[in-house]
Amino acid sequence: MTDIDLPSDPPEDPRALARRLEDARRVFAGPLDFLLSAPKLEFLPEPRVPEIAFAGRSNVGKSSLLNALTGRQGLARTSNTPGRTQELNVFNVGEPLSFRLIDMPGYGYAEAPKDIVRAWQNLVFDFLRGRAVLKRVLLLIDARHGLKPVDLDILKLLDKAAVSYQIVLTKGDKIKPTELEATRLKVEAQARTHPAAFPTVLATSSEKGEGIPELRAAVMAAVTA
Ligand code: GDP
Repeated sequence: MTDIDLPSDPPEDPRALARRLEDARRVFAGPLDFLLSAPKLEFLPEPRVPEIAFAGRSNVGKSSLLNALTGRQGLARTSNTPGRTQELNVFNVGEPLSFRLIDMPGYGYAEAPKDIVRAWQNLVFDFLRGRAVLKRVLLLIDARHGLKPVDLDILKLLDKAAVSYQIVLTKGDKIKPTELEATRLKVEAQARTHPAAFPTVLATSSEKGEGIPELRAAVMAAVTA
């Protein structure tokens, strides 16, 4: 059999795209509040609404991205001490409540003792496996580094938990646009070899705001998926 070129999706009508981005912007500009920090799964709120989780290596820019996404500077605390934040931070979006954002503890700090890493994996794996309302994990990857061995372990963990996840590149402003696009395509090719990974990778910069409207729209698409 010869290779078949699969038809790619037709490009979205620009007006439809603009509407989608604007709708998502409005949701994130509306009511959005910190609910609680859960050191253990039993402290999580009742799973009543869809949830979107954010995960990534410590220092990947997760707090900055959450702050940029929500347009609230102090929402997520930046520059966490390694191993200190082993909690799942929960944010309510919408009034009435529409969905929740879950900020997962950062992983992979070189200085983190083994028992902290193990505690992270247990907490996260139990959460991922047991949370029926979890619609998608956004896995943040530093655009300068691409997928590191520790990230590949997390990809495997997510595949095993059978949770839908999408890779989001952070700190895109730190490299040249051509380099950023090359990394995005490379990571996209890697993502396509993972069964639970979403096939497209988003590039963002919390500093410059690039990719943030698209990320908001991706969250909304995942919430309603
Ligand atoms: P976290 O540990 O994953 O929550 O990471 P932080 O949000 O605390 O960010 C770690 C460091 O990277 C901080 O010094 C941030 O100012 C910086 N940083 C985060 N996002 C960006 C970005 O988009 N561009 C640039 N240039 N720096 C960033």
